[in-house]
Amino acid sequence: MQREQVDVLIVGAGLAGLSTAMFLGLHDITPLVVERRQSTSILPKARGQNPITMEALRVAGVAEAIYAAIPPGKPAITSVVSESMTGKVFHDHVANRPDFSRFSPERPGMASQAMTEAAFAERAQALGTEIRFNTFCEEFEQDDEGVTVTLRSLDDDSLYQVRAKYLIAADGIRGKISKELGIDKHGYGFLKAVTAVRFKADLIDVAGDNAMVVHYIQNPNIPDGAGVLVSTDFVGEWVANMSADPDRDQAGTEEIIRTMVGIPDLDFEIIDSTSYDYAHQIADKFQEGRIFLTGDAAHVMPPTGGQGGNTAVQDGYYLGWKLAAVLKGQASPALLDTYDVERRPYAEVVCTWQAANLAERRRMDEVGEVLGKPMDHATMMFGYSLMKGAFVPDESVDAVEFENPAAPTGRPGARVPYAELEGTDGPLQPRTLLGPYFMVFTVADNGVERATTTAKDFGIPLKAFGVKSVAPLGAKPSATVLVRPDGVVAWRGDDPTDIARALRTVLCRERELALA
Ligand SMILES: Cc1cc2nc3c(=O)[nH]c(=O)nc-3n(C[C@H](O)[C@H](O)[C@H](O)COP(=O)(O)OP(=O)(O)OC[C@H]3O[C@@H](n4cnc5c(N)ncnc54)[C@H](O)[C@@H]3O)c2cc1C
Repeated sequence: MQREQVDVLIVGAGLAGLSTAMFLGLHDITPLVVERRQSTSILPKARGQNPITMEALRVAGVAEAIYAAIPPGKPAITSVVSESMTGKVFHDHVANRPDFSRFSPERPGMASQAMTEAAFAERAQALGTEIRFNTFCEEFEQDDEGVTVTLRSLDDDSLYQVRAKYLIAADGIRGKISKELGIDKHGYGFLKAVTAVRFKADLIDVAGDNAMVVHYIQNPNIPDGAGVLVSTDFVGEWVANMSADPDRDQAGTEEIIRTMVGIPDLDFEIIDSTSYDYAHQIADKFQEGRIFLTGDAAHVMPPTGGQGGNTAVQDGYYLGWKLAAVLKGQASPALLDTYDVERRPYAEVVCTWQAANLAERRRMDEVGEVLGKPMDHATMMFGYSLMKGAFVPDESVDAVEFENPAAPTGRPGARVPYAELEGTDGPLQPRTLLGPYFMVFTVADNGVERATTTAKDFGIPLKAFGVKSVAPLGAKPSATVLVRPDGVVAWRGDDPTDIARALRTVLCRERELALA
């Protein structure tokens, strides 16, 4: 059987797989992506990018394309809990949302999953990724040196093998790779069976012309008293999500849509419908040897809160640089063990956040009792800081998993704060300087030269900036701060000569990190 060799094989050209491909491409690693579909998704699924995702997409060079991929209408979001589209509004998520501009230089994006996947595919290909559509991953076998994957071309049914150093399982909620690896999943499990009905109706007079409109309907006259109405990429095209019922006929579906919109004689045309399950499920581990789970293959959450797609994109951001550093010989393979340690705790929290939102918005009290109330939105999004992983802990500070984003500590393991520094050549904003490189902010006289020389010795990309004080980053004013390519603070200290020791730890060159 014919056999190709690649560094990384990615199964799945969804948000997770394509994101991982882009972030590998930024580091000159060009993976092969295989996808059983004929193209990227054309279905109206996840919509919207949070500012953290937009920061990552800025690094990937695709932020402007995503901001531009806005559906028709006014560039604004409606997200409310209401009796119907025309009825009483119980809660306005946008009006009550914290001001995210305090925490990030990026604003939320509004692109649909279809537009996002298309933009990612184009960018990944421009960076050297090959995407092979109509290609099914049949089976795989890993050993100490790599993974042998058997692929089937769905064009001519031929089988062939690819030998990869690493395999990314970005194969989604129904993907088989995690099952075949014997990785169990935990969580609340099944939450609700849902039918999504796409329909055409002229609702501009009642919905307004915001580009993105979501109504979480709470109304005793629809099944289970709750449903969701969502706009799509096309003017006059909507999706009504309602509790599934195999016995419901067309007239029953039409009645529910009219109640959700709140117009008893609404004129509309049903285009199609699909059914899917809401679930809360997290893999017990995100890595098995040379195979990594990303996106829905690793964590499944209901869509209430819109983080499923965002978390999938971010997995690629946080994994990509590590995998590239190992493949390029800059880091020891032990660095890859930190992917699970760093990402899984976040996935646990975000899955629970979305399921708790579902419980609140769709009145599923039994779920709320188990999963509790949703955490504060801004804290969930901006407050996560690593308890273990690829950084040098600062023992003088108490580590917490979620910080108050309004008072960031900037401790190693936390995201570098959104703060302005006075650079020797003018103001600097670390979060707008993020890129596929480490960064150093230093007050020391020879700090920039020292950091640059150390980076050369290590063979890693690094940008060093001389500043007058790093106090805005939460460090001692005269300290030096090292930031990872994903914007996480890796180390801070008084002496820039310690950067070398810090990098050896972060890149796992000398000793394994204490991850257990
Ligand atoms: C109807 C619907 C509405 C949703 N709405 C929202 C929302 O509003 N907000 C939100 O955040 N999330 C929403 N989601 C969830 C969101 O779409 C997912 O979180 C996101 O798609 C995850 O991306 P992924 O890349 O991990 O998986 P996927 O997008 O599922 O991609 C996995 C890919 O792997 C491919 N694949 C699987 N097995 C193989 C194989 N053996 N060989 C080759 N290819 C394979 C699949 O064809 C698929 O393209 C929704 C999901 C659905 C279904």
